[in-house]
Amino acid sequence: MSNNLTNIKKSNNSPQITEDTPVQYIKGVGPARSKFLERLSVKTLEDLLFYFPWRYEDRKNLKKLNELIYGNVETTVCEVVSAEVVTTPRKRMKIFELTVTDKTGFLKSKWFNQPYLERYFKKGQKVVLSGVVKGNPYARFGLEMENPDFELVGEEDIFIHTSRIVPVYKATEGISPKQIRTLMFNAVNNYSFLINDYMPEDIIRRQGLIPLLGAVKEMHFPEGSSDVHILNNNLSPAHRRIIFDEFFMLELGLAFLKKREVLAQGIGFKINNLYVDNFLKSLPFELTSAQNRVIAEIIFDMQRPLPMNRLVHGDVGCGKTVVALVTMLIAVENGYQACLMAPTELLAEQHFINIHKMIETLGLHVVLLTSSSKGKSADDIAQGNAQIIVGTHALIQEQVKFKNLGVAIIDEQHRFGVVQRADLRRKGFNPDILIMTATPIPRTLAMTLYGDLDISTIDELPAGRRPITTKVIFSSQKDRVFSLIKDELSKGRQVYIVYPLIEGSEKLDLKSAIDGFEAFKKIFPERKIGLVHGKMHHADRETVMTEFKAGAIDMLVATTVIEVGIDVPNASLMLIVHAERFGLAQLHQLRGRIGRGGYDSYCILMAYPPFSDEAKRRLKAMETTGDGFKIAEEDLDIRGPGDFFGTRQSGIPDLKIANIIRDINILENARKEAFALIDAEPDLKSYPLLKETLKKKWMGRLELIKS
Ligand code: ADP
Ligand code: MG
Repeated sequence: MSNNLTNIKKSNNSPQITEDTPVQYIKGVGPARSKFLERLSVKTLEDLLFYFPWRYEDRKNLKKLNELIYGNVETTVCEVVSAEVVTTPRKRMKIFELTVTDKTGFLKSKWFNQPYLERYFKKGQKVVLSGVVKGNPYARFGLEMENPDFELVGEEDIFIHTSRIVPVYKATEGISPKQIRTLMFNAVNNYSFLINDYMPEDIIRRQGLIPLLGAVKEMHFPEGSSDVHILNNNLSPAHRRIIFDEFFMLELGLAFLKKREVLAQGIGFKINNLYVDNFLKSLPFELTSAQNRVIAEIIFDMQRPLPMNRLVHGDVGCGKTVVALVTMLIAVENGYQACLMAPTELLAEQHFINIHKMIETLGLHVVLLTSSSKGKSADDIAQGNAQIIVGTHALIQEQVKFKNLGVAIIDEQHRFGVVQRADLRRKGFNPDILIMTATPIPRTLAMTLYGDLDISTIDELPAGRRPITTKVIFSSQKDRVFSLIKDELSKGRQVYIVYPLIEGSEKLDLKSAIDGFEAFKKIFPERKIGLVHGKMHHADRETVMTEFKAGAIDMLVATTVIEVGIDVPNASLMLIVHAERFGLAQLHQLRGRIGRGGYDSYCILMAYPPFSDEAKRRLKAMETTGDGFKIAEEDLDIRGPGDFFGTRQSGIPDLKIANIIRDINILENARKEAFALIDAEPDLKSYPLLKETLKKKWMGRLELIKS
């Protein structure tokens, strides 16, 4: 790409600059600043040009001081007259006072408790001030601003920072928004011509997109006629183009992966009921009809000689593990290996213990593989002795070799994206893949982010589940909590107490499981209390859990290890300490441990103020609903889509401006265009530039695109 770029070069800058030039060599950057920029993920000139402002400020209408309107937010450019720190006589508060003039009047600005500001201002220095106009509206010299935004400007760059709509960039330590603006002004003016529009013409036309070069320029330094509100709401034509492109590159990659999967050969499993029947007979319960239906859907996929790609979702406690086991057993019956991948080491261990117990009688070889348990397991996996493998991300590491992986199951998939799935798939001969999640995802979003999964829903809980009363209680009302616990214990029920930490830490002033364990032993001396946490060896942990299940322990003090694999129907109360610290999905998952025995059950969320508005919303959501679907929607709303779906970790291109919820219409258009294009031309042969860009955006994750 860089070759044809140099041909069209028209500037007199050093000829070797390309989009991939490290940002350090761009005028005004240098080695020191490039380090700071790197923190903003800006490494190359291209990164810089695509580092867009997060908001805009209208400094078109700079006001003279005699035009300022009392009560309005106004922006003005003035010269410093005086700058001094004064100390209030009574409260001894330090106030930095700045007086400026533009020859039409004077304006005083005050900043409280920021005396260090003094050193930025010299007499005669030009400064842009932006803030609410206060002071006495009737006094000629009484205009004031409190804590206005300010920027120092030199004569030479006054045009960049004022008299226009200016971009405001997210900055970081070592580099200010204003410095970034200056760098950007230079970069956009001198190098934006390097940007080549990779988008096929007909898509541009059909979607009414503006050219990419113009869009980039406009994103940074909008035209005089632009409207700052439209810009700040991401609704300008430039925004639309950039958002479309972000989605398009995402969808094009997904379309590409999907195409490859459709063309791929998979395994056609036979259903010969060697283990599955025995396993189902050994269960102390009948499957729910939802479980049966989903198993039938999975069997249908597995029998076909195509790779299965299915997402199973169902609320906490609906019984996904059994479904996973049936799936794995079918593979094992056919002489293949099956693996289950969990998002954390702890969850993997719990699944391992749990699965071990459930299929003990079948005499199968189950192994655990996490980053701390390699060695022997890895050999067993490579040689094929291991039939069922439970593990973490460690499973997809390069060194791990399977003898013949037939099925891979991913638990709690929102932390595993399409890229991890592709990695897993390469571990075998296109194994079937099943993804299980308790987080229901709106269908369009699932399709968008996970390519083209088939979706099954377990929309029924096993019989005997009871609604749980959930209550937020503040730490000041401990006694109420203790008496509730006492009541439940005296009815013969058992209790969970969950803490965010194992041990106390000096940095965080939080209650911990170990401290709590000691405290509860004193408060309930006549009761048997157990402790489990993630630093215990899993065998010891299991002993305690077994005792709890058997009723030999009344109260189990725990960390989030109890999220999976523990089922004690007699437990009717869960106290979650520092509930404000837990994520919503996790709270819901934890709560799913109770209410399983047909008793009225209580989840007490003990909260330690002060806490954020987000924490408040999480707690409120827990109090108001027990429905996993509603919880997931609320969670999505609180966290925002990027965080919720973990796009960062999942290896798909970052969405910087685009937002899957807000911009859903653009997303759907981009998806349609991308899939149609790949359908028409799977290898993008006539679009070399697009193909190049696609590879870059996916950072080598589409390595199977042959060049
Ligand atoms: P999740 O869907 O949250 O992963 P699990 O698979 O852990 O749920 O199942 C929760 C509990 O319900 C487990 O103890 C499991 O043995 C039990 N269970 C699963 N299916 C049924 C069923 N059909 N009837 C009764 N209990 C069931
Ligand atoms: Mg589960």
